Amino acid sequence: MNKGEEFAELISITRKFLEQERNRGIKEFMQHWEEKKAESGTLDDMARRIKDCQKCKLGRTRTNLVFGVGNPKAELMFVGEGPGFDEDRLGIPFIGRAGQLLTKIIESIKLTREEVYISNIVKCHPMKDPTHPEMRGNDRPPTQDEVAQCLPILFKQIGIIEPKIICTLGSPATKALLNLTEGIGKLRGKFYDFYPPYGKFGEPIKVIPTYHPAYLLRDPTRKREVWKDMKEIKKAMTSISPH
Ligand code: SF4
Repeated sequence: MNKGEEFAELISITRKFLEQERNRGIKEFMQHWEEKKAESGTLDDMARRIKDCQKCKLGRTRTNLVFGVGNPKAELMFVGEGPGFDEDRLGIPFIGRAGQLLTKIIESIKLTREEVYISNIVKCHPMKDPTHPEMRGNDRPPTQDEVAQCLPILFKQIGIIEPKIICTLGSPATKALLNLTEGIGKLRGKFYDFYPPYGKFGEPIKVIPTYHPAYLLRDPTRKREVWKDMKEIKKAMTSISPH
């Protein structure tokens, strides 16, 4: 079985588990859900619990685990791919050049970094050559296995925050949340329903994919599409009912 098939099987097992849970009766299911939510505690509890995580090989080469930053009750959450060089050094997501652009993107809809929540699908820096952690430009996308190991952490964060909207930045984050195969160019700018495995049962969260700020640094002609996506987010935030 190749990695792609393994990932598909993992998703299928998760779905079957959820269906079985549903069949056990809605009351019992919701009780189980609340228990799972309580287990997660607060974001700070979670961050403390996973600070030494070694579930995948990225744990062996990181400087800092990059958990996430922002408002624990944010209505809007941004999810990227993984920490880069600067993020690994400082333990804060989106802090380098791409991060500065993300800050401007957030501010374009009259919000601040402190009002939203920012995280990634993997919490440790994926490197092309882990024997040279001091080298810049050594970043790579996370593997399917690394994503599969780390994704439950993001799902629990989402369960605690319960945002109205999640904006996925780039293809890997979009695929990890929505399990869709089309490219980011096709998926961006539209809303999709995401049923989080933790948090309020049965209530989907709206997910809107857009381009990753690092991609915008390489191709600034795409910025206009991102501003458009941000306007859609702003519009949706005012129309979706409060928590
Ligand atoms: S990337 Fe995620 S799963 Fe892997 S070691 Fe870091 S926190 Fe753990």
